[in-house]
Amino acid sequence: MSIDSVYILSTTIFMMVFLLIGLMYVIRLKRKLFRLMQENNSFKTLCDIVKTPIWFKDENLKITWVNKFYAKMFDRSRSSIYGLTDKELSPAKLSDGYIRDDLYVKESRKPYVYRENEKSGMWFETTKFPLISDDGTLYGLGGIAFNITAIKKSENLMHSMVYNDYLTGIPNRLFLSVEITKLLSVANETNTKLAVIGIDLDNFKDLNDLYGHSVGNEILKKTAQKLKVYTSGKGMFIGRLGGDEFVVVVPNIKEDEYILQTCEDIRKLINTFYDICESNVTINVSIGVSVYPKDCDNYEDLMRQADMAVHTAKSRGRNCIVFYDKEIGKANFKRINIEMHLKPAIENDEFSLYYQPKVSVDGKQILGFEALLRWNSKELGFVSPADFIPVAEQSDLIVAMSDWVMRKAMVQNLIWKKQYGVIYPVAVNLSAKQIHKSDFLKKALDLINELNYPPEYLELEITESMLMSKDSDSRRSFEQLRSMGVKISMDDFGTGYSNLSYLSSFPLDKLKIDRRFVTDIDTSKGNQQIVNAIIMLAQAFNLSLIAEGVEGGNELKYLQSKGVDVIQGFYFSKPLPPELVYDFVDEVNKGVWINKVHESFTQLDKKYGEKITETEEKQKKNQEEK
Ligand code: C2E
Ligand code: CA
Ligand code: CA
Repeated sequence: MSIDSVYILSTTIFMMVFLLIGLMYVIRLKRKLFRLMQENNSFKTLCDIVKTPIWFKDENLKITWVNKFYAKMFDRSRSSIYGLTDKELSPAKLSDGYIRDDLYVKESRKPYVYRENEKSGMWFETTKFPLISDDGTLYGLGGIAFNITAIKKSENLMHSMVYNDYLTGIPNRLFLSVEITKLLSVANETNTKLAVIGIDLDNFKDLNDLYGHSVGNEILKKTAQKLKVYTSGKGMFIGRLGGDEFVVVVPNIKEDEYILQTCEDIRKLINTFYDICESNVTINVSIGVSVYPKDCDNYEDLMRQADMAVHTAKSRGRNCIVFYDKEIGKANFKRINIEMHLKPAIENDEFSLYYQPKVSVDGKQILGFEALLRWNSKELGFVSPADFIPVAEQSDLIVAMSDWVMRKAMVQNLIWKKQYGVIYPVAVNLSAKQIHKSDFLKKALDLINELNYPPEYLELEITESMLMSKDSDSRRSFEQLRSMGVKISMDDFGTGYSNLSYLSSFPLDKLKIDRRFVTDIDTSKGNQQIVNAIIMLAQAFNLSLIAEGVEGGNELKYLQSKGVDVIQGFYFSKPLPPELVYDFVDEVNKGVWINKVHESFTQLDKKYGEKITETEEKQKKNQEEK
């Protein structure tokens, strides 16, 4: 083979190999291209299937491709969209934001996710992402927006369930905690005051019992609505803590007077007529206020203090406004201390009963005793019933305590009878919780039977507020007890409801005129009018009368002149421990008290006599001078 033919052959082989390699490369490229086109098609098919808008833009933010859903959303053909910018597609209100977001993605080269409330209440979660080639060049942007309306709706529902009160629709305690905490840090930064106004409807429980729960719910809804209307546009917000407890939060306070004014407004607002079961019912409110930063610096204390102030407003006779102060804090501390030590007190036998005599106005006769509970606590020392009874009444402890009192008083009375041969009626104070227990009557009857106690020597003292409820069971219990001879007294008369219809229908024997009307009755015109009215009521309903809290001879004399003939008060005796009771009985039997009453009346007469002479002399002198 010549050199030439070798050259030609090798060149041909080289060419063929070269061509073969080239062919293989082209085939592979074609395959790759085919695969890419296939991938692209699959991707587009997939994009067209999903019911959510997808779009791509070039580096100049002009649309290069959109899926079917996107085109449908704009109600345009795809080809008519290509090459357009957001400015040309959407109103300026929306497109400005879209462009701003796109520029952010372009610059940061990072995906950007946000939620938007498009139109007609639809919500979208949009993700925009940069398109970057292998060599790092940004050649466009892509975007996809998921319709999250359903998720958002359920989120909103959850939010509303978590943060709103189910009954009234206004924010609940959780919402208040979040919002107040936020507002406190704003108040701190801006050096402004924030007030939490606690609102509690007076006697709501009674109304609920009287008219039923659905009426109670209506009252709560109406109250919430009134508060909502009042606070709207004022930068305040409201909430319901539960039950009949509402809160109004007043941020950004510049003048202290504004808080009191707001409280007064709220009081007037709620204190209007509510149309309940075709009758107009007025509802009063007790209001308690705590102010940041004067009273405290955090949410928990603010709420706790407002609550304490509400409690104080309630204990001051309700229907009033109380601002938290350190004294209230101390009183609350005392209440908590009582609460803690009250339960073991029964087990530790720390209670005893004292007895206060009820005496005829002339001091001739003892007509009975009232048993009054005393607590000498190992930890707290002597605690007044005025302090611990309200605490016990908040828990079921009052029931066990009242049962104990009833038994103890009856047993003691039987002991005296055995010792001294005479027996006097003994009165015990009942509590609302006790009389509303289903076994109240059974327990009383069992006790009377067990002790073989003469029922006519038992007197039960109830208060007006216990009768608010339509509880016919307790009425029947009292009717039965009364038919056996037990006496029923209305204690603290005149301090409760003005609705006196029960006087004609409830089984009653006596009215006890409350101490506050007896104090200074000889000089106080207001008290005289009230007591005169009570006397007339007692006569009209054929009830006997007792005046409580008589301390001075002048009060005694006035009451005597009006025909009140049974007296209970320090004038005759303070409540006595059982061992001293019969010393007092002895004194009365020996006529000591007839003399004392007589003496104090003569002294009074003398005093009045002196006064009259003094005035007469003055008048004489004046005339002479003239
Ligand atoms: P209450 O039933 O109105 O009892 C009369 C209260 O007035 C007694 O106070 C008595 O010591 C006081 N008092 C009587 N005469 C005078 C007076 O001339 N001047 C003054 N300043 N006070 C007088 P006490 O014993 O402190 O009881 C206070 C309240 O605690 C009672 O008022 C009653 O509501 C309640 N309480 C006392 N014992 C019991 C009990 O066993 N059960 C229940 N549920 N409550 C009780
Ligand atoms: Ca009483
Ligand atoms: Ca009383």
